[in-house]
Amino acid sequence: MPQNLQAIRGMNDILPDDAELWEQFESLIRDWLRAYGYRPIRMPLVEPTPLFTRAIGEVTDIVEKEMYSFTDSLNGDSLTLRPEGTASCVRAALQHNLLYDGPKKLWYMGPMFRHERPQKGRYRQFHQVGVEALGLAGPDIDAEQIIMCARLWDDMGLQGIELQINSLGQPDERAQHRQALITYLEQHQSSLDSEALSRLHTNPLRILDTKNPALQDLIEQAPTLLGYLGEASLKHYEGVQALLKNAGVHARLNPRLVRGLDYYHHTVFEWVTRQLGAQGTVCAGGRYDGLVEQLGGKPVPACGFAMGIERLLALWLEQGYQREKSVPDVYLLHQGNAALVEAFKVAELLRDAAFSVHMHCGGGSFKSQMKRADGSGAQVAVIIGDDEIAAGEVSIKKLREAGDQRRVAFDLVAITLGELLLGSET
Ligand code: ATP
Ligand code: MG
Repeated sequence: MPQNLQAIRGMNDILPDDAELWEQFESLIRDWLRAYGYRPIRMPLVEPTPLFTRAIGEVTDIVEKEMYSFTDSLNGDSLTLRPEGTASCVRAALQHNLLYDGPKKLWYMGPMFRHERPQKGRYRQFHQVGVEALGLAGPDIDAEQIIMCARLWDDMGLQGIELQINSLGQPDERAQHRQALITYLEQHQSSLDSEALSRLHTNPLRILDTKNPALQDLIEQAPTLLGYLGEASLKHYEGVQALLKNAGVHARLNPRLVRGLDYYHHTVFEWVTRQLGAQGTVCAGGRYDGLVEQLGGKPVPACGFAMGIERLLALWLEQGYQREKSVPDVYLLHQGNAALVEAFKVAELLRDAAFSVHMHCGGGSFKSQMKRADGSGAQVAVIIGDDEIAAGEVSIKKLREAGDQRRVAFDLVAITLGELLLGSET
């Protein structure tokens, strides 16, 4: 196939074996979110660019270099493929006045787009499950969101994902810390890389989030925000810690943890594994009390998190998850015109009885059809030929164990298969 028709680098096809794994994950996710009282919401994949510049912040990796933005040729508007879901979710809640009768717990799942260098665990189209609680201010909801993640890891049978938490305090505390940080970084200006230099006076906190290993020592020594937290912020942070402790969820306090996005306040957290190499953060989130107001609403406290589905699935497989391959219950073979007509009827009868049926299409000898039946993974073959038609019967043959073929009347096929496959009388 010509190169220029192939999928875009960093945007992946999810082929059937994997797509089934995704479905298994998605079904687990739906049950898990329902158990915590979250309701689904679905937002568009394309939004006005200013939504993201306003929400995420001008001086961030995402807005500076990762957004897929383009001009709508009809009206000249600048549009962007969403790089994350929180901004869209808050926009939707504001636009439709969802918060008029109190707090809302919302979730969504789907593709996000970031123009990054593709590598293991880092793609240009990737997928997140996002969870947002809007209108709740206390440490209780922060803690519950973290605890619910711990339950999901349990449900998935995942181990060794470390929880790191920190507090980013409130804007005035951040402003004081920012000053101290600038002073410190100015003293070490000659060691900074060009990105850090360009952020020194615009967004120094983000320098702490750099991926450049050469800067790690410098960052280790930098003043932490913790020293600038006031009483209320400390109380919130300690509240979260106490609730986690009571729930038996171990957290590593990481004073250097800052999130990539500007809108965080108070609690921030990441779940990190060592098993995926450099892209080890499988879930990240925190409190973003300033965002709703920043997007034009009344101030509303909020917190949420997002999980990277590709990374979680990679970890799931890495830790031995056996994917369930879906196979039909029945492969239906037939030969001759009368048999074809009957096969359609039998197939629908069986589907009425909740069996999955792969009806052979495309003709061919019974021998070649039987090969397909074997390859399909079906448990049972149902066979209709001239003999069967003449007798008003079908033949049934178990495909995964030895045994004779047997004949049953058309109207007994579903019952017989029920006995064979489920060991039941129905
Ligand atoms: P990173 O530091 O790895 O770039 P981030 O801080 O940009 O992550 P968030 O915006 O917090 O990531 O997104 C939440 C989660 O989404 C991440 O923890 C990760 O699991 C996943 N994620 C983010 N970017 C990508 C990507 N390009 N490809 C795959 N997964 C991603
Ligand atoms: Mg990133």
